[in-house]
Amino acid sequence: MAPKSKAIRYALTTFERLRAHHADADCELVPRDPFQLLVAVVLSAQTTDAAVNRVLPDLFATMPDAASFATAQPEQVAEKIKTIGMYRQKAKHLVGLAKQIMEHHQGQVPRQFDALVQLPGVGRKTANVVMGVAFGIPSGVVVDTHVQRLSQRLGWTKQQQPESIEKELSAVFPKEVWIILSHVLIFHGRRVCTARAPACERCVVSDVCPSAGKAENVGRKPSRMRSLRE
Ligand code: SF4
Repeated sequence: MAPKSKAIRYALTTFERLRAHHADADCELVPRDPFQLLVAVVLSAQTTDAAVNRVLPDLFATMPDAASFATAQPEQVAEKIKTIGMYRQKAKHLVGLAKQIMEHHQGQVPRQFDALVQLPGVGRKTANVVMGVAFGIPSGVVVDTHVQRLSQRLGWTKQQQPESIEKELSAVFPKEVWIILSHVLIFHGRRVCTARAPACERCVVSDVCPSAGKAENVGRKPSRMRSLRE
């Protein structure tokens, strides 16, 4: 087995320093009811949490649960989320997943990762968020664009694909920190280690970060993807 890098050997200590610095780190989507959270996470793909939170009150005022989504037309849902990217596709997914929840899970969001990823529009990231935030079950590490970039910059992975990054982070960190790990990295990615302008000069872990002072091109998506996502 190849010797572990210094960044990997100190990963847990580095993470604990970041965690102390971002003591308020949490999922920024408002809902905690499992179904409403599932809806919010599906809507959040390639969209900011703030934009999703803005459409939720009106959406849930008329469709608060799986039963009401299951009997809605996708066009009705689309009308209420049309400020969100890919809203037509997401509306279809929401109606489809609500139908499956009514038909196969007695109207309740399943607490099993494998059942969640069978629902339309639900991938590993969405399932891990719901398992962690709604049920407190660490099924895996949520790898979004911030977690991907930060874990590369911090030297915790050289992988490029979210699933491979999740696998490596899950091996480096103990299960009991998997849920909070993502929240902390997302907060650090938004507040300090941003994609375009990482503020290494005021970063609390710059003394141990292998990318400190030279991070601009580490962990960033290729330019074509950047122009689509940023
Ligand atoms: S030192 Fe720079 S690159 Fe490393 S985590 Fe901090 S802000 Fe990001």
